[in-house]
Amino acid sequence: MSDTIFHKIVRREIPATIVYEDEHLIAFRDIAPQAPVHVLFVPKETIATLNDVREDQAHIVGRLAHAAAEYAKREGFAEDGYRIVMNCNANGGQTVFQIHLHLLAGAPLGGFGR
Ligand code: 5GP
Repeated sequence: MSDTIFHKIVRREIPATIVYEDEHLIAFRDIAPQAPVHVLFVPKETIATLNDVREDQAHIVGRLAHAAAEYAKREGFAEDGYRIVMNCNANGGQTVFQIHLHLLAGAPLGGFGR
């Protein structure tokens, strides 16, 4: 299992603006935000890509989405809306090989369905 920058953030070895943490996952602001709100939700269990999620680990992905929705409600933009994204491997644009969910919000987002 390879160590990533996100593991270092969990261990507090490098700084990040952490906005939520529990026993299962951590959420922090993306260092290069692509929207006014750009938060990454990362499980504490090591899984390199979405391809590596076993059936008995599927709940881990669900937890990330649930935590993102709860954050959106707490922060007051759930009704306005937001986007969640998970990139996988080269064509998906994945650059950090520990699964994570992007939460993007704070403005109308272009792209899909437009
Ligand atoms: P990916 O491209 O793998 O889906 O997303 C990785 C994300 O991690 C990128 O949006 C990138 O800006 C973010 N990122 C990379 N290094 C760091 C870091 O050291 N700190 C934080 N907060 N975000 C990072």
